[in-house]
Amino acid sequence: MHAVTHTRRPWGAVRSLIIASCVLGAGTAESRAQSAAPPPSPMPGFAASTADAQRRLEDDIVRRPSADIARRHSRALSAEAHVAGTPAQARTRDYVLEQMRAMGLKTEVRSYSVFMPHATSVRLWRTAPTEKELLLREPAVASDSTSEKWQYPTVNGYSGVGEVSGEVVYVNYGLIEDYARLDSLGISVEGRIAIARYGRSFRGIKSREAERHGAVALLIYSDPQNDGYVRGDVYPEGPMRNWDGVQRGSVFNGAGDPATPGYPSTANAPRLPVDRMELPHIPVVPISYANASALLAELRGRDLPAGWQGGLPFRYHIGPGPVRARIAVSDDRATQGTKQIYDTFGVVVGTELPDELVIIGAHRDAWGPGASDNVSGTVSVLEAARVVAEAVRAGHRPKRTIVFATWDAEEWGLIGSTEYVEDDSLRLRRGAVAYLNQDAAADGARFGAGGSPSLRALLRDVARRTPDPRGRGSVFAEWQRSAAIVDTTSPPMTDPGGGSDFAGFYNHLGIPIVDWGFSGESGTYHSQYDDFEWMSRFGDTSFVYHATAGGIGAAMVLRLANADIVPYDYVEFARTMQRYVPAIERQIGSRGWTAAPTPALRAAIARMEREAMSFAATRDSALARPLLGPQRRAANAALREVERALTRPTGLRMRPWYRNLIYVADEDNGYANMPFPSVNEAIRDDDEGLAARELTDLARRFDAATRALTQARMALTAP
Ligand SMILES: [Zn+2]
Repeated sequence: MHAVTHTRRPWGAVRSLIIASCVLGAGTAESRAQSAAPPPSPMPGFAASTADAQRRLEDDIVRRPSADIARRHSRALSAEAHVAGTPAQARTRDYVLEQMRAMGLKTEVRSYSVFMPHATSVRLWRTAPTEKELLLREPAVASDSTSEKWQYPTVNGYSGVGEVSGEVVYVNYGLIEDYARLDSLGISVEGRIAIARYGRSFRGIKSREAERHGAVALLIYSDPQNDGYVRGDVYPEGPMRNWDGVQRGSVFNGAGDPATPGYPSTANAPRLPVDRMELPHIPVVPISYANASALLAELRGRDLPAGWQGGLPFRYHIGPGPVRARIAVSDDRATQGTKQIYDTFGVVVGTELPDELVIIGAHRDAWGPGASDNVSGTVSVLEAARVVAEAVRAGHRPKRTIVFATWDAEEWGLIGSTEYVEDDSLRLRRGAVAYLNQDAAADGARFGAGGSPSLRALLRDVARRTPDPRGRGSVFAEWQRSAAIVDTTSPPMTDPGGGSDFAGFYNHLGIPIVDWGFSGESGTYHSQYDDFEWMSRFGDTSFVYHATAGGIGAAMVLRLANADIVPYDYVEFARTMQRYVPAIERQIGSRGWTAAPTPALRAAIARMEREAMSFAATRDSALARPLLGPQRRAANAALREVERALTRPTGLRMRPWYRNLIYVADEDNGYANMPFPSVNEAIRDDDEGLAARELTDLARRFDAATRALTQARMALTAP
C-alpha cells in the first residue's frame, strides 16, 4: 500500500512519465507508434441493425450537455471549501443527490467511517537568524469573494502532530536521489527540518523519505519555477500561483482508510490502532513561496548541486542553518479522528443485462472550493447523468446498468472509492464492464486522456464524433493538433498508474478504466484560489469544456451499456504490451542474466494478439447475423475475465492490495508509472531468480487472458 498519486490526472503528467520511465529503462509512457485504426465501420461490438441507431443517439447526446447548467452547478458546488468530513461536504452530497433525483435517477448513498483527523492548529516560526512567525493562511484576493471565506488550515493530510524545532536544510525535491546527493556532500537532515519543493514526485514519497532520513519535520513549498511567476502571470492577474498560494494535499501513501487496509470501513469492521497505521510521524506542512523565501534566502553553507536552484530571486543554499525554524501542528485525532464519508450513486437500471455495470465517477471532495479539482469532474458526471436520463425518458433505456457516482475523501487517499470497491468487490468483479473517471475534467482547452489500452480505441472514436467547443472540427482533431502528431498516428494516451479514483477498480480488481479531461495553465492546484472566480476568468471561461467533458461521458457510457458485445480492443492491448518487452530484455541483458525467460513472455503476448485478432473477426461476422441472448451473455462474461486474468489474488510482492500486474504507480516516485510491475520491481531489486519466476508467472497470466478470449470466441461460434 504505497505510492498512489492523489488527484494527478494521469493524462496531465505525460512529460514526467517519460522522464521517469527513462530512469527505469522500461518504456512506460504510451508510445506514439500506435497504428492509426481507421474509423471503425460501422461500430465494433454492435450488430449492423443496431449500430446506426446507436450512432444517432451518441451524435445527439454529445451535444446535449449545457454550458449554462454546468456554470450553475460549478458556482453552487464551489461556493465554499468542502473538505471531506466537514458540514460543507455534506452539503455537496445533498446537492448532488437532489440533482440526480430530479433527473429521475434512483439514488443511493454509501457511508463509511474512516480515520481522517482534521488539523486544528498549524503554526510556523523562523527562530533564527531573526525571529518571525510566518503567516500560513492564503490571504483574500481583491475581486474574489470566495477567497475571504473559511479555509482549511495549510497542512498536509495525515501530517504527524507535535511541536518541533531545528536547523533548516534545503533538500531540492526531496527525492531518493536528492538525499543520496546530500549524503555525498556529508549533509544530514537528522534532527533537522527539511524543506523540499513540490514536483517530480508524489508528496507522500517526499514525506516518507524525509522521515526515513531522520528529519523532525518537512516543509514542502511551491517553487515559482513549478507553477508560479516563472511560468506566467499570477492570480488574480493570471492563472498561476501567487506569492501566498499553497498546495495542500495528502501525504498518505496507501489507498483507502488507513485503519482498514484491504477491507471496507463498515460499521463493525475491526480498526487498526493509530500507531499501527502506515502514516507519517513527523509534521508535514505545505507553504507558499513567500514563506519559503523567508527561510531559504538566509540559508548558507555548501555550494548548490547543479539543478537545485529554483525560481526565487536569490542564490539558494543547502544549509544546514543558520536559519532555524519551529513548527507546531495539532489535530482532532484524540477526540474525533474518525469521520463519516459519503459516496453517492445515481442509477439507470439496464433492461437486458441489469447485473452488468458501466460506472462513471468523480470525487466530490476538495481541499478548497475546488472549482477545478474536482467540481469540474463532478459537474461533468452530473451533466452526463442529466442527458442520459433525458434519453432514457425518451425511450432509450440502456441494455446494461449505468451508475453515476461521486466519491468522498479522494483527496485524503482515494478513500471513498477504495472503501466502495472493497465493499462491493464481488459484484464489481463479476459485473463491472468499465469504470470511467473524471478528475479535474475541465480547467483548460487541451484535451488529454489515459486508460487501459483496451478502451483507448473507444475513447478515440467518441472523441472523433464530439464537436470541439471552439468550433474547430472534432475534439479528436484538436487533440491530435495539440499533441503535434501527424494524422497517421494517434495522440498519446497515458497508462493507468495511480492518482485518482480509478485505482480501486483498476489496480485492485482489474476492471478496465479510462479517464479524460481538458486542462490548461494552472497554479491553483489544492489552493483556496481554486474557485469559481479563477475558473470563470482563466480555466473554462464559458464552461463549454465542462459541458463537452460531460458529453463525452454520456456517449461513452451509452456505447458501453448498449453494445451487443462490449467493444474492448484486445488487439491494441496486446500490441501495447509487446512494447514493454524490449526494455525488460535490455535490463536483463545488461545484468548478464541468462535464466530470465523473456521469450516465454513475448510468445504469450503474441498468442494473445493472435487470439484477439481472431476474436475480433469472429465477433464482426457473428454480429452480421442475429445472435442468441445466451451466446452474447457468455461472450461478454468471458470478455470481462480478460483483464481480471492479468491480476494476481496475492497482489504485488510488497503491495498486496495492488493486484493488477499490467501497470502501477512506481513506489519510489508515486507519479511515475511502471508497466509489468511484478517483473520490473524484481529487476530493480537485482533479484535474478525472482525476475525469472515473475516472468513465468506473468506469461502464464497472459495465457489465461488468451483463454478468456478464446472462450468468448467459442461462445459466439457455438451452434
Ligand atoms: Zn482530484
